Amino acid sequence: MSSVSSGVMPTDVLVVGAGPAALAIAAELAERQLAVAVLAATDPRDPWPNTYGIWGDEVDVLGLGHLLEHRWSHTCSYFGPGSSDPADPANTPTRHGRDYGLFDKARLQQYWLERCEAASVQWHRGMAQQLTLEGGRSQVHAVVAADSVVIEARLVVDATGHQPLLVRRPDEGPVAGQAAYGVVGRFSAPPVETGQFVLMDYRSDHLSEAERQEPPTFLYAMDLGEGRFFVEETSLALAPAVPFEVLKQRLHRRLAHRGVAVEEVQHEEFCLFPMNLPLPDPQQRVVGFGGSASMVHPASGYMVGSLLRRAPALADAIAAGLKDPNAGGEELAAQAWQALWPAELQRRHALYRFGLEKLMRFSEPQLRAHFRTFFALPQWQWYGFLTNTLSLPQLVMAMLRLFVLAPWAVRWGLMEQQGREFSLLQQLIQLRRD
Ligand SMILES: Cc1cc2nc3c(=O)[nH]c(=O)nc-3n(C[C@H](O)[C@H](O)[C@H](O)COP(=O)(O)OP(=O)(O)OC[C@H]3O[C@@H](n4cnc5c(N)ncnc54)[C@H](O)[C@@H]3O)c2cc1C
Repeated sequence: MSSVSSGVMPTDVLVVGAGPAALAIAAELAERQLAVAVLAATDPRDPWPNTYGIWGDEVDVLGLGHLLEHRWSHTCSYFGPGSSDPADPANTPTRHGRDYGLFDKARLQQYWLERCEAASVQWHRGMAQQLTLEGGRSQVHAVVAADSVVIEARLVVDATGHQPLLVRRPDEGPVAGQAAYGVVGRFSAPPVETGQFVLMDYRSDHLSEAERQEPPTFLYAMDLGEGRFFVEETSLALAPAVPFEVLKQRLHRRLAHRGVAVEEVQHEEFCLFPMNLPLPDPQQRVVGFGGSASMVHPASGYMVGSLLRRAPALADAIAAGLKDPNAGGEELAAQAWQALWPAELQRRHALYRFGLEKLMRFSEPQLRAHFRTFFALPQWQWYGFLTNTLSLPQLVMAMLRLFVLAPWAVRWGLMEQQGREFSLLQQLIQLRRD
């Protein structure tokens, strides 16, 4: 990795960041014969802190199944209330019948790094600070080893994560966070069955009646093999987010109730990221990708599948725009935003945000009934919903079907309009008109 000296260094595209979004888009852009520089606060080869999960089919269709470190076919959730008798129907699992995987995060990173290297991406290590505009070009000012430097590009891609440095978003009020506290380690007894992956265990028989009135949380858990398990207490979304202390305490309560104690902690995960960010303003000189561009799926919290699927279209649009030597920064950025967030995806995003707003109000029994109904939808429908791979009409059909099949308690919750839901609905209607 080179470090930069002072001065203005011109390039076609400057990508800021070194997380999954930055590497994904840098690789795609460089493979289109563009001059691409990456400016990152850390070494892009540094291990990423997060663990990334994904449905098996999402990587299979892209021919990337080899990037998974673990893969489970025994996948299920629990949407009953739970009881101390394992044979009680309150403990009956909902089987998903779809594979789920965990990326080998080093291999995923390496996959993108090798593509970047092969396509001659220029690496710069430094902290970006601000963007200025000089004629048709953008200049990013950065600090590199205590020196101020300027990197000049025709277009800047901000991939600095959920709280972006450069991308602007409208303020639409409190942002809900997905929060989770997890442990990778060894336990006195298996916290889940051998070879099992549990997407959501909403059983709550370990909580008092009063605690069940508090915001619901669920267990996300998996057998990692050789006696190691990953267990994580998770709040789907809430504003303000559920504190880590509460999640930690709930995790230990849940495990203790099933007679399980943590014997060895190999890694602790403190997870917090925004779920329902508004879309960025498309009229800005910088384009975003990843967390900075609000690409987290507002109903599930997943994003890596979207990065893999959507990077090529964004790179195509940027490459096409740059072919015109006279295209200015504003025009290039507008074309890029249009490719990243076309009207169809904007509408789907608005629908998901609207749906999440409702789920955040649901009581624990409503939420359990909702998910039981959701996973009773045909597999292609719930899978397409969770991966954002349904078309808009298909998504609407899935939501309508859910409404028809749901018990009255859930239907009533879906019909009630409270808080921000009305304004989100208005946004959706507005998007349909535009
Ligand atoms: C704990 C956790 C678990 C998650 N699990 C999953 C999962 O299982 N599956 C899934 O699909 N999604 C998951 N997500 C959601 C999402 O995929 C991740 O948050 C993902 O890391 C976001 O990628 P990103 O590249 O946009 O941002 P980040 O990964 O946050 O990367 C931002 C990069 O920008 C750099 N940077 C920041 N500021 C500057 C600056 N001023 N100058 C230069 N560089 C800068 C940072 O150093 C970093 O390299 C998870 C998120 C968290 C927090």
